[in-house]
Amino acid sequence: MTEELLKKLRAAVPSAIILTSDDDCTNYGMDWTRTPGKAGVVVLPSSTQDVSVVLRFCNENKIAVIPSGGRTGLAGGVTATRGELAINMSRMNRLDPVDLLGRTVRVQAGVTTQSLHEHCERAGLTWPIDLASKGTSQIGGNLATNAGGVRVIRYGMARRWVSAIQAVLISGEVIELNQGLEKNNTGYDLLQLLIGSEGTLAIITEATLKLTVPPIHSHVFFFSLSHYKALENLYEKVRRGPFTLTSFEFFSDKCLQKVEAKLQKKSRLEKPSRFYALIDVETTSENAQSKVDGWLEDLMADEIVVDGLIADASESQKEVWALRESITESLQMSGAVRKYDLCVPVKKAADFLDEAQALFEKLNLPIELYVFGHFGDGSPHLNFLNAQNLPIEDFHREVNRYESELYPLLKAYSGSVSAEHGVGILKKNWVLFSRTPQELRLYKAVKQVFDPNGILNPGKIID
Ligand SMILES: Cc1cc2nc3c(=O)[nH]c(=O)nc-3n(C[C@H](O)[C@H](O)[C@H](O)COP(=O)(O)OP(=O)(O)OC[C@H]3O[C@@H](n4cnc5c(N)ncnc54)[C@H](O)[C@@H]3O)c2cc1C
Repeated sequence: MTEELLKKLRAAVPSAIILTSDDDCTNYGMDWTRTPGKAGVVVLPSSTQDVSVVLRFCNENKIAVIPSGGRTGLAGGVTATRGELAINMSRMNRLDPVDLLGRTVRVQAGVTTQSLHEHCERAGLTWPIDLASKGTSQIGGNLATNAGGVRVIRYGMARRWVSAIQAVLISGEVIELNQGLEKNNTGYDLLQLLIGSEGTLAIITEATLKLTVPPIHSHVFFFSLSHYKALENLYEKVRRGPFTLTSFEFFSDKCLQKVEAKLQKKSRLEKPSRFYALIDVETTSENAQSKVDGWLEDLMADEIVVDGLIADASESQKEVWALRESITESLQMSGAVRKYDLCVPVKKAADFLDEAQALFEKLNLPIELYVFGHFGDGSPHLNFLNAQNLPIEDFHREVNRYESELYPLLKAYSGSVSAEHGVGILKKNWVLFSRTPQELRLYKAVKQVFDPNGILNPGKIID
């Protein structure tokens, strides 16, 4: 941006903070994947009015703009590849009082997921979207990516838990969608269109979120298992268990080793194995315990699992969950990582994982594979680590060799290249694996209506 335009921008939004240092532009120009990027200028608005002025200014001056939240995204959704203006929502973090009757809460987009949880907990309610990045991710980012997380089996994705959105269009117009209504069948649902649009259609400034009651009693099971098919068998048992299932997560032994090294703590399982399942369930009464115990006895007798433990106390549950939630960070600390968040029909997940693993072994590449994720949603994350510290281009070439065989396999399983992280720039070339040409044509038409000048997060999802 020229000095003259920058001066005009500062005069137009005196209440916004505007940053131009190299460090800030680099920091705000990338997400968690550290895909190289650098913003031209960073704007931190203090209000919806500020966002409106900035977008109108950008549209009139044809300046590309990228909305961002906590920048924990894993698809390069906030990556500034062409010196775009980054507009970051962190300062817009107002939380209104919880509406106990309607079980909703109105918040600004820059509120972090965790501070929302803490706010609602004080009112005895919860927003049930839960993900390991919750300390940093923001509600605007959660909605713009339609975040999933570890409780999708029970509660679905973020889009189910929203009853109103305020957003700013590239023209600067402020739109209010759905006004918090529970029912509103009057035409197209633009609120749902904005959810998952990854900042390409409008900037979300506020939302009314639906809340629910947290579980009364929860139990966490942690099992070791020797193969993927055992995970599937265990899932079948869990589905018939005397409880309501909230999470069915899994990870490989290699992931556990990385986490144990990071946390400097061993898991409490006596018999390790190749895979682990972390299962979180809810029961509604104290006497459900005897039924749970009976179910566990049956399970151990069936010899599906190698070893197991049950965590009922909150502290020991946190300890087990920390093993799962620290995986992404432990890998990140170990070198460059390429991440694939795939989805296949859950009944085929074990077969798919067996084939994906066999493919990896057949190719004999100088990179390491770490598998974990949301087994209960059919949503494994495949992570490739540059463990041998290859020059970065070589690392990407090796991963690409695997990818070129993985995606046809995924297609054969009717899978998706992104279960929950979104397309951003990293999966843009592969959208047609998961969507039809007709869908892509409609995407482009929708983009044209919302953003005729192609100013808003250009090059993300589609060109
Ligand atoms: C350790 C770790 C664990 C994770 N686990 C999960 C998981 O289980 N499930 C899951 O779904 N994701 C997961 N993620 C990915 C990430 O946390 C989510 O995608 C999250 O919703 C992103 O929120 P954010 O505020 O960080 O968004 P950002 O990274 O800042 O942005 C993400 C996208 O949203 C757009 N955007 C951000 N704010 C707005 C706004 N106000 N208006 C319009 N567009 C906006 C951006 O332009 C970008 O395209 C994980 C990430 C990490 C690092």
